[in-house]
Amino acid sequence: MTLDFARYPLHSAGFSGKPMTFMDPEPKAMLSTIMQLALLETGNRSACEHWQQVQLCNLLKHAVQRSDFWRSRIGSRSRSEVDLASLPILTRQDLRQQAASEGPLLRRSDGISTDDLATSGSSGVPVRFFISEFNSRYNLARSIAEYFIEGRDISHNHAHVKQTVYLKDGISVENHKSWLGSLGLFIKTGTSKQINLSAFTTDIDNCRKLVEELTKDEIGYLLCNPKHVDVISSSFDLGFLKTAKTAMWIPFGEHLDNHLIDAFSNLSIPIRGHYSAEEVGMIGAECRKMLGHYHVATSNVIVELVDRSYDIEGVQVGKILVTHLHSYATPFIRYDIGDLACLHERCPCGHDGPTIYNLQGRFSRVLKHQDGRLSPLHVTGTDLAAIANFSEYRIRQTDFDRIVVEIGGRSELSTDEIAAITTFLKQRAGEEFSIEVKACPQIDWGESRKRPGFRCEV
Ligand SMILES: [Zn+2]
Repeated sequence: MTLDFARYPLHSAGFSGKPMTFMDPEPKAMLSTIMQLALLETGNRSACEHWQQVQLCNLLKHAVQRSDFWRSRIGSRSRSEVDLASLPILTRQDLRQQAASEGPLLRRSDGISTDDLATSGSSGVPVRFFISEFNSRYNLARSIAEYFIEGRDISHNHAHVKQTVYLKDGISVENHKSWLGSLGLFIKTGTSKQINLSAFTTDIDNCRKLVEELTKDEIGYLLCNPKHVDVISSSFDLGFLKTAKTAMWIPFGEHLDNHLIDAFSNLSIPIRGHYSAEEVGMIGAECRKMLGHYHVATSNVIVELVDRSYDIEGVQVGKILVTHLHSYATPFIRYDIGDLACLHERCPCGHDGPTIYNLQGRFSRVLKHQDGRLSPLHVTGTDLAAIANFSEYRIRQTDFDRIVVEIGGRSELSTDEIAAITTFLKQRAGEEFSIEVKACPQIDWGESRKRPGFRCEV
């Protein structure tokens, strides 16, 4: 390794003007954090694992001191050497109970503020939990660290497409000079644009506004949910992304369908996914050499794989458990996050750290069969838009042999449309399913903010 910053453009007045000082506190703190995260995640493995073990003991001690719930789960066993696998698994139900009855486990006297959050409900009813100010700072620093760890060109712009609950005009835009946080005062980057979208559907007007906004400037790094890219692709040629100089697509949130992977491959735009969750932040970052392999963010979480009995299309996968080492407000220890995957000891690329692959996304996005088999259901808005017009849709597995499809923005559907949707769903899900197709002027999403296209309710 050579510490050579020649290829990072610095602001000419970036260094500190104070005596006996090199950098001002804020950019210095961010740079220091990034270096520490890179050290932990790319440095010597046994040093990282030792640090994780010490951090785990710290967290357990805190949880037992502050929480009856955790005291009754962990008991008084010695916490100087912890066998993580001997602790009970934390389900969403457990989490709901702990957070509701005990609130945040950080107090005002700790001097760390907490925030009250809820999952967006992609797996059903949202779950409330608490995060600390440290978690927010970590999440920002870790997302930035990824650019340095991979050695990406930081002179590119950044465009982040975010979905919000409601906006009168359907879209709003915030522009910033840099996307490096406080480090942007020191290192030059491209500009940062955040595009907020109102509950985005297949509405062509919103799509057009989004495409117009994206093409106003060079895009650079595109952070966008696959659902939105999929919806755009049903009305626009994705070639505009190449013309607007998209350097990389960083998808998040939803499953990434093969047709989008192919489309980006044809455009020669690389894709680099993050595997993260609202509850714990980053869990893994996609390897630049091995598509679909995620290097675990060992500075944030310990990942375990249990119950490897699930067979998805011939691949044996298990449940992912996540222990969030900085979860002092609401502890996440052996948390069943609801995803299925495989886990390597190290990545085939040579990275010496745990690596997740065959990630099957949310458990609830997998079809469950009577005989215990699981199969992923990949249906996109583009697929359905080719059959019928709609503003939004929802597919639910309501029983082992039953799927309900709701077509939003329609008060009725023709017999031909119903027949075509039924045939299409049977092709994707299996002939054994009975399919009910319903026209639905407005879909009742309940409390869920995420509005997943598919949900298994069995
Ligand atoms: Zn790798």
